Amino acid sequence: MRIDILTLFPDMFTGPMTESILKRAIAADRLQINLHDIRKFSKARHSQVDDKPYGGGAGMLMMCEPIVECIEKIEEEGRTSLRSSKSYGRQEGGEDAKPHRIYFSPRGKRLKQVMVEKIAKKHEWLILLCGHYEGIDQRIIDGGWIDEELSIGDYVLTGGELPAMVLVDAVARHLPGVLGDDASAHLDSFSKEFGRKKEYPHYTRPPEFRGLKVPDILVSGNHAKIEEWRKENLR
Ligand code: SAM
Repeated sequence: MRIDILTLFPDMFTGPMTESILKRAIAADRLQINLHDIRKFSKARHSQVDDKPYGGGAGMLMMCEPIVECIEKIEEEGRTSLRSSKSYGRQEGGEDAKPHRIYFSPRGKRLKQVMVEKIAKKHEWLILLCGHYEGIDQRIIDGGWIDEELSIGDYVLTGGELPAMVLVDAVARHLPGVLGDDASAHLDSFSKEFGRKKEYPHYTRPPEFRGLKVPDILVSGNHAKIEEWRKENLR
C-alpha cells in the first residue's frame, strides 16, 4: 500500500515509522510512506499556510491553495509512478489509479476496526491530510479533494499527525505479510472471528506470581476446553 501524508510537521513521524512493525513493513516494501510538507506549497511570504477565519473568532485556518496544490501534485505524480510500478498489483498500468483521500477531524466518522479492515482491503493508495490550528477551509472538502473525514475519538488533539499514525499502524496490521503470523490480526479484539468483541485475558510464565495463579484450564493441556474458556471470556 502507498500512503501519502500531508502535514506541517513531517518530523513528527520519525519514531512511529522507523520502529517495530511499520519499520519492517516499509523495509519489506509492503508499505510505502511519503511525507509531504504542506508549507512547501505556499506561495506566500514566509511560507504562510494559515489565515484568519471569515466571520471572526479565535485561531487560524489552513488555507485552500497549498493543500489543494499539494494533493493535485501527489495525484499526478502518483499516477505516473503507479503506472510504471510493479508493486501495486491491482492498479498496475492503471490509468485510473485513484487514491482514497482522508482528512482527520473531530467532526469525522469515528474510526472503528471494521473501517480499518475495509480501508486495508479496498484501497491500494491513501492520501492523509493532517489538519492543524482550527482546522482547514471547508472548501477543500466541499470541492471534492477529500473522500472521507475520520475522527479517532471524541476529544481534540493539536493536529492530525497522531490520528494519521494511528490509522497507518492499524491498517498496516491488515496488509498481507506485515505481521509475522498472518492470522494474528484476525484474532484480536474487535475482529470478525471474535464477533467484534474484546479479547480474553492472557497469561505467561511463571504459573504463580505473588500469589496470583494462572487459571487451571490454561495449564491443563486440554485444547478444546481452553478454546471454550477463551470464547466464554470474550467481552
Ligand atoms: N476546531 C476543531 C474542532 O473544534 O473540531 C479542532 C481543530 S484541532 C485543534 C486541529 C486538527 O487536529 C484538526 O484539523 C484535525 O486534523 C486534528 N484532530 C484533532 N482532534 C482530532 C480527532 N479527535 N480525530 C481526528 N483528528 C483530530
